[in-house]
Amino acid sequence: MAQQDVPVVWSPTTRAHDPNHEVWFGTTSDATEVAARVDTILESLRDAGHRLVEAGPAPDEVLEEIHDAELLSFMRTAADRWAAGPYSRLVGQDRVLPYLFPSPAMTGGLPTRRATAVHADAGRFGYDTTTLVGPGTWAAARAAVDCALGAAALVTAGEPLAYALCRPPGHHVTRAGYGGSCYLNNGAAAAEALRRGGARRVAVVDVDAHHGNGTAAIFYDRGDVRYGSVHVDPGAGWFPHVVGFADEVGVGEGAGATFNIPLVPGTADDGWLDAVRRLADWVAAADCTSLVVSLGVDAAADDPESPLLVTRDGYGEAGRIIGGLGLPAVVVQEGGYHLPTLGGLVASYLAGHASAAHGP
Ligand SMILES: [Zn+2]
Repeated sequence: MAQQDVPVVWSPTTRAHDPNHEVWFGTTSDATEVAARVDTILESLRDAGHRLVEAGPAPDEVLEEIHDAELLSFMRTAADRWAAGPYSRLVGQDRVLPYLFPSPAMTGGLPTRRATAVHADAGRFGYDTTTLVGPGTWAAARAAVDCALGAAALVTAGEPLAYALCRPPGHHVTRAGYGGSCYLNNGAAAAEALRRGGARRVAVVDVDAHHGNGTAAIFYDRGDVRYGSVHVDPGAGWFPHVVGFADEVGVGEGAGATFNIPLVPGTADDGWLDAVRRLADWVAAADCTSLVVSLGVDAAADDPESPLLVTRDGYGEAGRIIGGLGLPAVVVQEGGYHLPTLGGLVASYLAGHASAAHGP
């Protein structure tokens, strides 16, 4: 079979985000969403014969459509605000980290003001303690959006399939909040860009091990962008814990346009691929014209971040199933943290998708 050549849109600037560490259960641990992810994926896809395309800077309009201006403003300025404060001297910490979360539990219905201290203000947007903002975070997250928009532009121009090497990932970012190692929602940006490029109805198919609460929330009331996800059951104690259940189906014009398939921990290829087939059938039945695939490969058995047991061949088969829909598609990188196998998993998915989309 001839090598199927897929454009791989990437940016060296996506390496600029260094999470340094995470704070989990009050202790620090090594970060998993590291810049080396970019290089190992790039190497595998280059070796597989795909075509590397460096992303150029894309305008802000799509980003401003999917995210609140206040989140964008915070993300753009947070590291500088932190650097201007006493934190480095006080705690030796140069990463922005929320110190409190001004949720209704704290404010109890009182009228609230915006916190002036950045360590308190960060809790207005950041919803966990594992997603630190450092000096290069904005540049990298913005470059990841450029990759997503670059791939969407290629598909809008007629390319049947393009891959965006987005890092940091994005599917946990809601309209106005960030977390889960994500800072800006690359997949949502790609979907919105496809719509603006003329796609009548876009389906986002999310095969990351975790529910993409951000993408789901952004499109929950829209019928023109559908969101379907297979993920480990949040009810079994997995991120995002409080959303991602099967009875979340959308509201208003988006009623019926959300489809969650939670799986029990320990699910392997058979159960996972059955869910992927159900997602593909759901997309096919909805008369969608374009696809965004949120390709997290952290459902793989080797991955430290999830209890699913998908194999490399399983990812290849998922690619064939989703590629078999025959829709123009932007594949956006989400999670996947086991560096020795990460690149091979992505390459396996893309080979499957490309072979089904192009034919043998
Ligand atoms: Zn994940």
